[in-house]
Amino acid sequence: MIPIAKPLLGAEEKLAVMEVLESGMLAQGPRVQAFEEAFAGYCGVRYAVATSSGTTALHVALLAHGVGPEDEVITTPFTFIASANSVLYVGARPVFVDIDPETFNIRPDRLESAITSRTKAIMPVHLFGLAVDMNPIMEVARRYGLAVIEDACQAHGAEYRGRRVGAFGTGCFSFYPTKNITTGEGGIITTNDEDLADKCRVIRQHGMRRRYYHDELGYNFRMTDVHAAIGLAQMEKLELFNEARISNARYLSQNLRGVAAPSVPAERRHVFHQYTIRVSGDRRDYVLDGLRVRGIGTAVYYPVPVHRQQLYADMGYDLVLPEAERAAAEVLSLPVHPGLSTDDLERIVISVNELCE
Ligand SMILES: *Cc1c(COP(=O)(O)O)cnc(C)c1O
Repeated sequence: MIPIAKPLLGAEEKLAVMEVLESGMLAQGPRVQAFEEAFAGYCGVRYAVATSSGTTALHVALLAHGVGPEDEVITTPFTFIASANSVLYVGARPVFVDIDPETFNIRPDRLESAITSRTKAIMPVHLFGLAVDMNPIMEVARRYGLAVIEDACQAHGAEYRGRRVGAFGTGCFSFYPTKNITTGEGGIITTNDEDLADKCRVIRQHGMRRRYYHDELGYNFRMTDVHAAIGLAQMEKLELFNEARISNARYLSQNLRGVAAPSVPAERRHVFHQYTIRVSGDRRDYVLDGLRVRGIGTAVYYPVPVHRQQLYADMGYDLVLPEAERAAAEVLSLPVHPGLSTDDLERIVISVNELCE
């Protein structure tokens, strides 16, 4: 079976973890700080604050921007549930804007009509490793005085006009095992704003600046040095992994027949967290089953858009977002991870072509 995702961990990660275990200091410490510095440098920002997951990174970023009850945050309905749920955690309301069917990302030209007096932030999601069209988003945010919180959980190293994601607004990344690099579980916030980074650190650590003096409500959303040690070893490999993903995607796009290759708009670096094709409506199950029988792992990211989830229906969401709904009905992701061999890639191509041509 060719898996849909596979973390690549080697001797470097094992050694790094052993060193932490032998040091006897397992919680947040010098490795977390070194990982933050390495990741900030990679994204081209001044500060990074590591957290326990991508979800807690989003949660902390929203809190640090002062988003709370009565506020609205504009985001995409076609994403992992954590994007929108983080908005619920702070008591605010996610407002969904439909996606561009070509990129699967939020449509910037629809943002303005979703802005109200309660809008506090925009949360674009760089889905599948492709950067959102950031210029119009930053322009609208500037004009209305809105925070931009980038959900970059699938887009480590993705670029828009030569700049890495996470460097436009406040970036949030995940290091879950299926992501472009992993720490086991983990997340990080990136920013150029010193005050914001400081707020994030305080929220991550029980609202504590001076030991056991608590000025505000905070959480324990810390990363451990064990996880950061894995992350530091993975950082050394991130560009190799990304280049392998890009090269695997190129092979698939050049050789697949009868399916449209994922689009990569000009001036973007797509880091292919997922390689996602569309198979119209009733044929998707046939292709999914056929690939499974042929030993090829596939997945549907995501079968239900956020506004159609039961949780959101129960909260009274009852809107139609046709492109997100069509995408949910049609998408299918193929393996593209750096663990694929040439044989694996050939098998994927032959199987998809058999089923789709
Ligand atoms: C993975 C992911 C998250 C959440 O990250 P965790 O580390 O699993 O909490 C949030 N948003 C998107 C788009 C993701 O893919």
